[in-house]
Amino acid sequence: MKVSRRNFLKLSGSAFMLSMLGIDLDSIMAYAQGLRTVGAKEIISHCRYCSVGCGLIAHTSKGKVINIEGDPENPISRGALCAKGAGLIQLLYNPLRLTKPKYRAPGATGWKEVEWDWALDEIARRIKTTRDRTFKLSSKGFIVNRTDGIFCNGSLTLGNEETIMHLKLMYALGLVYFDDKSRM
Ligand code: SF4
Repeated sequence: MKVSRRNFLKLSGSAFMLSMLGIDLDSIMAYAQGLRTVGAKEIISHCRYCSVGCGLIAHTSKGKVINIEGDPENPISRGALCAKGAGLIQLLYNPLRLTKPKYRAPGATGWKEVEWDWALDEIARRIKTTRDRTFKLSSKGFIVNRTDGIFCNGSLTLGNEETIMHLKLMYALGLVYFDDKSRM
């Protein structure tokens, strides 16, 4: 149900009246919450976004994840999820999620959608050019595998293991400037 501002005010007023009458809204809310997942399959898992590893419960129905929430029985997180974990389902179904690369040319004000092949070739070419141009020299004058000409920002949607692989690739390329939300 879409709740308009007007309906929201009406609902808030009703909730206030019920609580004034001594009706336990917490139990009603808990019951209503449970109705969302009636008949769904429950899968115990954990959040992949950082090393805390908060526990979660995923509910699936007809082959689709319909709900993800904190697992109250998990000894680490006891039902809590931070904003990233609480939004996990968005990784699957958010219609605003980008599925193709976008490119903004130097000096341009807008982004344009480009093909993966073009984007990957372009990234590889620019990394190679920048590394060749900015490799450091050792104290003895040898070129070493270190560049401060490139900074890499990891992705919020990478899991722990993917981030480790990503980080190792960046180190192998000689980068020293790298950041990612999985460091927490
Ligand atoms: S990202 Fe948040 S919910 Fe996920 S494991 Fe880390 S602290 Fe927990």
